[in-house]
Amino acid sequence: MSKFSDFNFAGHKALIRVDFNVPLDEQFNITDDTRMTATIPTIKKVLADGGSVILMSHLGRPKDGPTDKYSLKHLVKPLYALLNSSGDSAESAGNTKVFFADDCVGSQAGLTASMLRPGEVLLLENLRFYKEEEKGDEAFAEKLSKLGDVYVNDAFGTAHRAHASTAVIAKYFAADKRMFGLLMNDEVKSAEKVLHEAEKPFCAIIGGAKVSDKILIIENLLERATDIIIGGGMAYTFLKARGGKIGSSLCEDDRLQTALDILEKAKQKNVSIHLPEDSVIADKFAADANTEVRPSDAIPDGWMGLDIGPKAVGIFNEIIGKSKTILWNGPMGVFEMEKFQAGTKAVAESVAAATANGAFSLVGGGDSVAAVNKFHLADKVSYVSTGGGAMLEYFEGKVLPGIAAIKEKESQE
Ligand code: AMP
Repeated sequence: MSKFSDFNFAGHKALIRVDFNVPLDEQFNITDDTRMTATIPTIKKVLADGGSVILMSHLGRPKDGPTDKYSLKHLVKPLYALLNSSGDSAESAGNTKVFFADDCVGSQAGLTASMLRPGEVLLLENLRFYKEEEKGDEAFAEKLSKLGDVYVNDAFGTAHRAHASTAVIAKYFAADKRMFGLLMNDEVKSAEKVLHEAEKPFCAIIGGAKVSDKILIIENLLERATDIIIGGGMAYTFLKARGGKIGSSLCEDDRLQTALDILEKAKQKNVSIHLPEDSVIADKFAADANTEVRPSDAIPDGWMGLDIGPKAVGIFNEIIGKSKTILWNGPMGVFEMEKFQAGTKAVAESVAAATANGAFSLVGGGDSVAAVNKFHLADKVSYVSTGGGAMLEYFEGKVLPGIAAIKEKESQE
């Protein structure tokens, strides 16, 4: 693979796989453009070098071929605005043309791509209008590959999928003509730093609703972390497994043994698992519920734990404060409701404070990212990952096909 930042794109047509899978409202306005803005520096670097850019992405989950709702044409104007906003570099601001091809393969896409001039951008139609994309079809990948002479993967959000445009396509480019974009590179570097070069103490904060979603990540972290904080709905399965009374809190009864196994393994490996000492409990799952604070293992019948309590916040704050590496995935409570957001907010603030003291912190997973954004702390942590599922799989210890395909040695092609 080549290093993107060292590559001179002058005269090249860069085929860039981006993750423009952004949420749209009913009028097709983008409600959160984080994924688009995150990849703009990659596009601008190619253009500034004197190259042209062909962008390919999926949007949503179209089932039966082309559908207006999932057309990438809705993104042309916002993309134009992002590329031409007077931002960082004056020379790339103001005059970048953005073309749209209403297919991602075929003669129109091919012709427009071939006529693209340096400094111009072509956005292709939704890759998932073809079933071949998700199937990882080789012929489809090869067709896509003909559109550019350099392949750049900047779509960390889909790096865990072995799709035609994210993985299979890489083999149609020589090793020096395929590379990670700037976003992908930062994502991989941050994840590698936490997984392979973590300075200790290393604290992982795992929250969210379901234990079953997080078992593999916890098991992998048992090999690496010093402390694992478990909060959110999933904590109650652990608390019940230990013999606690959890009322009607979220619980996966078929995972009680798994929870016990994890607690036992942690002991053997000298990893401290921290469950919330107390909880904010509610008499119903609703924003206007009555609330009280109780020990997490003594929740009365009919009540449920919807946030970590003040004692837990204090203990977690101390652990986070002495950590040198922090990984955070999943909220500590139902932070979408005001009454149950204090725990998640406090943890976000602890992570920010530890980061200010020199810790490296990586936040990932849709809801924890939403939480740091909500509390305006995104720029106070070291890195906020754009890839929920991809990040989770990376920390489960899986090889991500999108990463492996770029790194693959030429001799193995
Ligand atoms: P996940 O997608 O598994 O990371 O879970 C995120 C969701 O878990 C958020 O929507 C939270 O509202 C929810 N959640 C967090 N804590 C609790 C809890 N104690 N009880 C029920 N749901 C929770």
